[in-house]
Amino acid sequence: MSEHKGEYALINVTEQIVKNLLPDMMSGTGGCTCERCIMDAMALALNSFNGNYITIKSSEDPEAAAESHISASDRKKIILSITKSIDFVKGNPRH
Ligand SMILES: [Zn+2]
Repeated sequence: MSEHKGEYALINVTEQIVKNLLPDMMSGTGGCTCERCIMDAMALALNSFNGNYITIKSSEDPEAAAESHISASDRKKIILSITKSIDFVKGNPRH
């Protein structure tokens, strides 16, 4: 096992998609886009989903791997959740 350590990586598909989409969606709303607000919105969005982990080769790009594993309907659910989270954080910034 140890000789192959580092060959594979574990990624959360939902987390990758949220990290890909949320910052741009947030700046589009005109709300605060500081690191705190972006991370708060990411946490809120991600807490509404169960884990969705896959194993990829370490050489694979995690963004591309996540995009190729997500269904169109799951992607819509993620976008809806991001929208709600951004609205909440915009109205309740924790700073
Ligand atoms: Zn902020």
